[in-house]
Amino acid sequence: MPKNGRVVVIGAGIGGLTAASLLLKAGLDVTVLEAHVYPGGSAGTFFHKGYRFDAGATLAGGFAPGGPHFQLAAALGLKWPIKPVDPAWTVHLPDKTITQWADAARWRAERQDKLPGTEPFWQKQERLAAIAWDVSSRPFPWPPQSWHDWLTLAKAVRPSILPAIPYLTRTIGGLAPTGSPDFRAFLDAQLLISAQTTADKANALYGSAALDLPRRSVNHVLGGIGSLAKALADWIQENGGQVLYRQEVTEILVKNGRAAAVKTNKGLTVEAEYLLANLTPWGLGRLLDGAAANGWRQKIAAMPATWGAFTLYLGLEAAQLPDGLPDHHQVIVDPSLPLGEANSVFISLSDLADDGRAPAGMRAATLSTHTAAAPWHQLQQTDRAAYEERRGQYAARMIAAAEKAIPGLRSAVHFCLPGTPVTFQRFTRRPFGMVGGFPQESLFRARGPATGIPNVWLVGDSIFPGQSTAGVTMGGMRVAAAILSR
Ligand SMILES: Cc1cc2nc3c(=O)[nH]c(=O)nc-3n(C[C@H](O)[C@H](O)[C@H](O)COP(=O)(O)OP(=O)(O)OC[C@H]3O[C@@H](n4cnc5c(N)ncnc54)[C@H](O)[C@@H]3O)c2cc1C
Repeated sequence: MPKNGRVVVIGAGIGGLTAASLLLKAGLDVTVLEAHVYPGGSAGTFFHKGYRFDAGATLAGGFAPGGPHFQLAAALGLKWPIKPVDPAWTVHLPDKTITQWADAARWRAERQDKLPGTEPFWQKQERLAAIAWDVSSRPFPWPPQSWHDWLTLAKAVRPSILPAIPYLTRTIGGLAPTGSPDFRAFLDAQLLISAQTTADKANALYGSAALDLPRRSVNHVLGGIGSLAKALADWIQENGGQVLYRQEVTEILVKNGRAAAVKTNKGLTVEAEYLLANLTPWGLGRLLDGAAANGWRQKIAAMPATWGAFTLYLGLEAAQLPDGLPDHHQVIVDPSLPLGEANSVFISLSDLADDGRAPAGMRAATLSTHTAAAPWHQLQQTDRAAYEERRGQYAARMIAAAEKAIPGLRSAVHFCLPGTPVTFQRFTRRPFGMVGGFPQESLFRARGPATGIPNVWLVGDSIFPGQSTAGVTMGGMRVAAAILSR
């Protein structure tokens, strides 16, 4: 394969690996430097006491034809190790349970039964989602950051997009009927996990696409979600690229306003013509040196903090769990209170048929809730006992919430490991353990990959279209296209 230009990718998250594989396929010389011992970052799977626990992400969507994972697999000739899930997940409110069927007809019947009076909203949401997913399946560089992007955009605009124009600046909350607290709580909980914000703030087009995720080919990943990143890392290595583990980049050397090389904690220096940072803006800020660092730090000073996650990894005795239990659940404990902070909890059980995930007779579960990251770091630094007490309280509240969806769960627990934003910072190197990227509130304030340093791009969930394995795959494809267009 010809080698035209040296690309260094910092980080083997899904976004970084996606861009790396496409650049390698296009003939560039690609080296991925990963700090950890396995790939995947927030969508990684770790081995502990015989279990394979998904660290953050548990469910992946976007494998249907036209979806980002589908497109990437087609471009690389890859086959993903996946198995469709239906229902995608089940939402538990205090007095009703709503099933997010993957099957469109079953979902229509479910919402008409459980969320009466909301059908006109869902029909509009489906129309907008169809446009948003169609647009995003084509080269659509958003936000446009160069003349080339504007040209590509102009070519991508079709009459079928026009009905979406009045919704460009509206929110999901503005389209939704008022008066039903259950419906609002349901919408808020879906948008918090898919757009990092609630209905009143989530952009109508983005939010419509996000609300459609359960119908966009949601899958279990065999062996755990980390198998997606592993498939990409293997592909890169089999096709002449390098993925080097235990290599934490500690410095980006900038010469004449361009990144020239990176240095790692193992003493490696790698020269780079193009540098992709699979990092948050704060992560990039920590690595840049000199004047470049000052410019970038000024930019990030104005950026709002994003969410952290509190997680519980449970080893569960399968026989103690109810028969016929769906694998994925979302619990809203008290709809009148703000979501997150253990008041909304996402629960994923490993597929019973996937015997690589847990010792015989057991299942691996990942529970997660949104949490503000800063208080965890403050406590951990100033009062270790209070940090541990708070961690114990969150764990207890998460298990109590999970009991509402899965009666008997508490007695099935054989093993319990909590994770706070401090843990996420340690294992994903994301500063402050902030995960999931920015809230998707405005299409016009969306963040692109350009950094102001001409040969350095961001990739991952801090750039549009943001979080999820599907989102960062789309972002990674766009960054690769932007580099190749040069
Ligand atoms: C609790 C939780 C639940 C989630 N649930 C879902 C879900 O069910 N479905 C879904 O699709 N998405 C989910 N997500 C979101 C999804 O996991 C992320 O949006 C996505 O995986 C982020 O990918 P990324 O490309 O930004 O890279 P990251 O995941 O951030 O990975 C970056 C990689 O870079 C490495 N790195 C960082 N700094 C350095 C350095 N200096 N040198 C070398 N390497 C470095 C890290 O070790 C890491 O491997 C969830 C996230 C969380 C936290």
